[in-house]
Amino acid sequence: NAPAPHRPIQALPDQLISQIAAGEVVERPSAVVKELLENALDAGSTQITVRLEEGGVKRIAITDNGRGIAPEQLPLALARHATSKIASLDDLENVNTLGFRGEALASIASVAAVTLTSRTADAPHAWEITGSHLATVTPSSGAHGTTIDVRDLYFNTPARRKFLKSEQTEFGHCADVVRRIALARPDVSFSLSHNGKTVDHWMVGEMAKRSAQILGDNFASARLSIDENAGPLRIHGYAGLPTASKARADGQFFYVNGRFVRDKVLMHAVRAAYEDVLHGDRFPSYVLALDLDPALVDVNVHPSKIEVRFRDSRAVHQFVFHAVQRALAQTSATSHGSVPS
Ligand code: ADP
Ligand code: MG
Repeated sequence: NAPAPHRPIQALPDQLISQIAAGEVVERPSAVVKELLENALDAGSTQITVRLEEGGVKRIAITDNGRGIAPEQLPLALARHATSKIASLDDLENVNTLGFRGEALASIASVAAVTLTSRTADAPHAWEITGSHLATVTPSSGAHGTTIDVRDLYFNTPARRKFLKSEQTEFGHCADVVRRIALARPDVSFSLSHNGKTVDHWMVGEMAKRSAQILGDNFASARLSIDENAGPLRIHGYAGLPTASKARADGQFFYVNGRFVRDKVLMHAVRAAYEDVLHGDRFPSYVLALDLDPALVDVNVHPSKIEVRFRDSRAVHQFVFHAVQRALAQTSATSHGSVPS
């Protein structure tokens, strides 16, 4: 191998920085779907439509009815490190939105063809911008809210495109993301279509109904309600009975301050609580939401924010373990079977 050519140190161009970041922020179509859904929720939407083509690689179009983006702000929405969600370190430590890094749209726009169309409540019509933050904003049409249309993901980064799996696999990951987000927000309606066919459609409703729709009737008829407080911690949701356990760990949903997470501390606490009632080769199903003061948890561990760090992870572990264990103990003390939810 020839040695790399020696070059002087140079600042990277903006576009290239975003393309490098895109490898972390949006490593596959489902990560784009996650970022766009989080933006729609942060905008206060109550109705969200997700349209995918060819596993999301050809097209991801998400329409919401949220507060929208003013025309003069549209370029900023696509600019790197531009956000309406935090303005100071103080805000970062008390973040109560799903996004805050201000890099998702810029990253996506650097590796796909993006059109952002938006109309705020007071605007007489919508406006749109296509391409990047350098493009011109033009009048458009559409209802109040925002549509972001992402086409030909990674068309300009073939190395990354090669890592994509089959259309069905990529679609499966996208659908998983929609479901895990929809599960936490029964107060929002979601619809998901793939290649023109509606796959999922959930109306606004109760948590009980949404979780039955997403986890199935088996879970709905074999789950225990949990709702406990201790100081700054609250846990609520459903723990599935052993009869709702699965051979695969695909019925496990844990949220921290509304954010789906896969956290070792939390998973261990739940697992330990099930120890006495579940065989080692079975996986419990659950939908649990832990809410706590945002200052007690750091969500800024990784761009995808799927990992979190608790200030006092021992206290969180104990709290979750005991809450789930208490719920499970109640049924074995009385009788097995379904419990009113
Ligand atoms: P972040 O979500 O971290 O702020 P993004 O790059 O995802 O960064 O979005 C940049 C900004 O664009 C957001 O801060 C928000 O103000 C605006 N924005 C993005 N999507 C939407 C949407 N669906 N509705 C309203 N505003 C949006
Ligand atoms: Mg965002």
